[in-house]
Amino acid sequence: MNQDRRGINTICTHAGELEDKEYKGSVSPLYMGSSYAFEEVDIKRYPRYFNTPNQEALCEKIAALEHAGSALIFGSGMAAISTALMAFLQAGDHIVLQQTLYGGTYNFVVTQLEKYGISYSFTEGWQAEDFERELRPNTKVIYIETPSNPLLTITDMTAVAKLAQKHDLVSMIDNTFASPVNQNPIDFGIDVVIHSATKYMGGHSDICAGTVACSTAYRDQIWQTAICFGGSLSDYTVWLLERSIKTMGVRVKAQNENAQKLAEFLVEKDEVDEVYYPGLPTHPSHALAKAQMNGFGGMLSFELKEGLDASEFMKCLRLIKPSMSLAGVESTMLLPVKTSHALMSAEDRAKQGIKDGLIRFSVGIEETEDLIIDIEQALKQVKSKTVLT
Ligand SMILES: *Cc1c(COP(=O)(O)O)cnc(C)c1O
Repeated sequence: MNQDRRGINTICTHAGELEDKEYKGSVSPLYMGSSYAFEEVDIKRYPRYFNTPNQEALCEKIAALEHAGSALIFGSGMAAISTALMAFLQAGDHIVLQQTLYGGTYNFVVTQLEKYGISYSFTEGWQAEDFERELRPNTKVIYIETPSNPLLTITDMTAVAKLAQKHDLVSMIDNTFASPVNQNPIDFGIDVVIHSATKYMGGHSDICAGTVACSTAYRDQIWQTAICFGGSLSDYTVWLLERSIKTMGVRVKAQNENAQKLAEFLVEKDEVDEVYYPGLPTHPSHALAKAQMNGFGGMLSFELKEGLDASEFMKCLRLIKPSMSLAGVESTMLLPVKTSHALMSAEDRAKQGIKDGLIRFSVGIEETEDLIIDIEQALKQVKSKTVLT
């Protein structure tokens, strides 16, 4: 277990810093070498071995952030997810995954696993009993996402971790939506914590990366697979990611605060039907979220009243950008039915409760009042247009 129990902002800023011994610069020096002398060193350093100086230093920060023994950094969230899964699965094995899964992970599972002889099941719901129902004698991995995309469901991590321990399974979580600032699953017994660092860790919509945090024994197992798949991140981007994470605590706390205020504002609007945010006392798992999260996060979703066109509403926004990705310092919105969940059948979407008018909102760090003004004016416009037609 990583012993760095300093506060989140201190870890973000200082954990795993590389000292500039030569010039005493105040930031980690960047070592871009792809070739290192092998004499008198017992490890062969090489970018695809995940062990250059900058990679190792950033891994220390990631491990500290997630209270893990070790970490690995990848070229994307999907490289981290696919490598971690393949490290623990082989022909004849079975995996149970949460039904409300990130689209890329879902695609990986349904298009890749079968050809390796690995079978899979998706849960009906998102609690431990839903996972238990899908277990088979050859199940090896349980995979969860909490809060989930786009409806922000909350899964009880302790219950899932206990289930995994009871059956000797590896439990994995995609912790991207929460970020390490708001949720540390290892404290609740989850084995492997994965992030798309493209999101809150990067935070400025300009880096694509992924991370895995876990025990050193599990890290070594994932490492073996990682070296074969080769999904490492360039040292320059590793260095940029270190810089980004320095402000992650400050950014995410501001996003938590903004999201809470905006959720409360949206609940009060006549034009809005439903608001999904774990920080609202009316969220069905509010108490659970409070128990296992340090903050409720910067992601929320809402539905416009029947008859109000969500696409039209999005077109009327002036400050908030329509955008595919999430977790940047800038506020963005998207329609899951047109983007992240477009490939899913209407029937499957209905099963998951994703309505056509659902809007996913990634709340940024702008002044709350400016975001409210933007939403107010867009609602007003879409309402007047609806009356006219
Ligand atoms: C974006 C995302 C991923 C995939 O990450 P990439 O960096 O795009 O490969 C995985 N899980 C979640 C929840 C995400 O939002």
